[in-house]
Amino acid sequence: MGEFELIRHYFAAAACARAGGEVALGIGDDCALLAVPVGEQLTVSTDTLVAGVHFPDPCDPYRLGQRALAVSTSDLAGMGATPIGFTLALTIPAADPDWLSAFARGLDAMAAGCGMRLIGGDTTRGPLSITLTVFGRVPTGAALLRSGARAGDLLCVGGALGDAAGALPIVLGKQLGESADAAALLRRYWSPQPQLALGQALRGRATAVLDISDGLLADCAHIADASGVSLQIERSRLPLSDALRAVAGEGALQCALAGGDDYLLAFTLPAEHLPSLREEGWSVHVIGRAVAGVGVQLLDAEGNAISTGDPGYNHFRD
Ligand code: ADP
Ligand code: MG
Repeated sequence: MGEFELIRHYFAAAACARAGGEVALGIGDDCALLAVPVGEQLTVSTDTLVAGVHFPDPCDPYRLGQRALAVSTSDLAGMGATPIGFTLALTIPAADPDWLSAFARGLDAMAAGCGMRLIGGDTTRGPLSITLTVFGRVPTGAALLRSGARAGDLLCVGGALGDAAGALPIVLGKQLGESADAAALLRRYWSPQPQLALGQALRGRATAVLDISDGLLADCAHIADASGVSLQIERSRLPLSDALRAVAGEGALQCALAGGDDYLLAFTLPAEHLPSLREEGWSVHVIGRAVAGVGVQLLDAEGNAISTGDPGYNHFRD
């Protein structure tokens, strides 16, 4: 199968490759054409996933397709953007029909759930690697940046933390994962759901937002740095799922603090906006607050900072 036949058969023919919405022209020409509505800005983000680095190799291609698009689309959620579409730059060692059709179906499933359209890409031969560039739109000036947190804001997250990190030892074959709890964590790893609707609901309310990809502590440090505030996280308020507690045991807190791959939103919020968000049914967990200062502090139940020299804290970073 040649390059063009491959593109046509597996990608241009996919349901998610149909033009429509803001996609005036999709796959097939030198460029796609996007019509961004007047009064809106285009949001753009790129992520590369390399086999053996960002996902195990070999792995199930359907799940890989789902996960690759979810991971990239989550950046749109972190800006409060509405999805438009994505390009796929795919490097594959061989044109294996079973692999390609399963991968394309996984992409398609996640694209349908996220309202994303495949608008173009590039297909090359080499070690397996996937680069997705995602495009979204946001009313001019309304994008949710990392830099707006103010002392006094609440620090919140959009769901239970650490589930994907709890699944990682199972994904890597270092731990057995036969239980229903393990299956729940594996779903969170392979099929994270970008919090697009929550991101849009946070426009005009949250002062700083990002999606957690590298772990809560590391990502909150980005908000703290960009905003010029300190973020205090209360260890006892971290939302942990029952599945994570069952699978990771004592390691659950470590997964929530330092494990990556959550793809949930972390945001700072003036307290006045909390009641309306809750009334609208959003799952918002308050885990701390922004104060004057720098960096991220973890507080124990008595409100004492757990210092970086504390062996407990170092254990979290292992
Ligand atoms: P060019 O030579 O102009 O870069 P290509 O031959 O690489 O074009 O691609 C032909 C068309 O197919 C383009 O519209 C491109 O965006 C699209 N395309 C190539 N690879 C993919 C892919 N993996 N997924 C979706 N579209 C693709
Ligand atoms: Mg090309």
